[in-house]
Amino acid sequence: MRVGVLALQGAFREHLLMLGSLGADTLKVTKSEHLAGLDALILPGGESTAMVRIAAGTDLFATLRERMADGLPVFGTCAGLILLADRLSDDSLGGYDRLGGLDVTVARNAYGRQRESFTTPLTVRGLDEPVEGTFIRAPQILELGPGTEVLSRHDNVPVRVRQGSVWGASFHPELGTDGRIHAEFLHQLGAAA
Ligand code: GLN
Repeated sequence: MRVGVLALQGAFREHLLMLGSLGADTLKVTKSEHLAGLDALILPGGESTAMVRIAAGTDLFATLRERMADGLPVFGTCAGLILLADRLSDDSLGGYDRLGGLDVTVARNAYGRQRESFTTPLTVRGLDEPVEGTFIRAPQILELGPGTEVLSRHDNVPVRVRQGSVWGASFHPELGTDGRIHAEFLHQLGAAA
């Protein structure tokens, strides 16, 4: 199982380490050629404004959209969720191209500024014990389309969702040492293969 991590900016190293510790082959993805031969891709947290600017003028997002349309499983965390959201509540990313593909409306930074970052136990479907969710200037999922299922909630707000082969989380499952969200993602990929 070869899983790429978009490595334009942000917490890609932590995802690579987490995936590696779970036995997955990993690849840092910085250009469209890297997408060939991947079984799945993770879009990390970080700063979505930086990611869209770095990707602008390249064929990376257009090629990735094609791969997603062909069924490449993709999991976006935090800024990665912002890239995947079909709709943003404001136009703070300007006219920059994003990916889309996940039928949600997302508000950037809706959980507050850096100093309002927090961790909280999250009940996760399929896991007996809660995971510690880390929210850092996190996006909030405001609306979901009918084909999008909720996998985890915080204060009754969806924080982890799935629409077919596209997963999104508002928080950072790659921070800390708890690899259960990644393990579950890999398990789902195995189940899909
Ligand atoms: N606030 C960031 C953004 O808008 C996301 C924060 C994160 O990924 N931790 O891109």
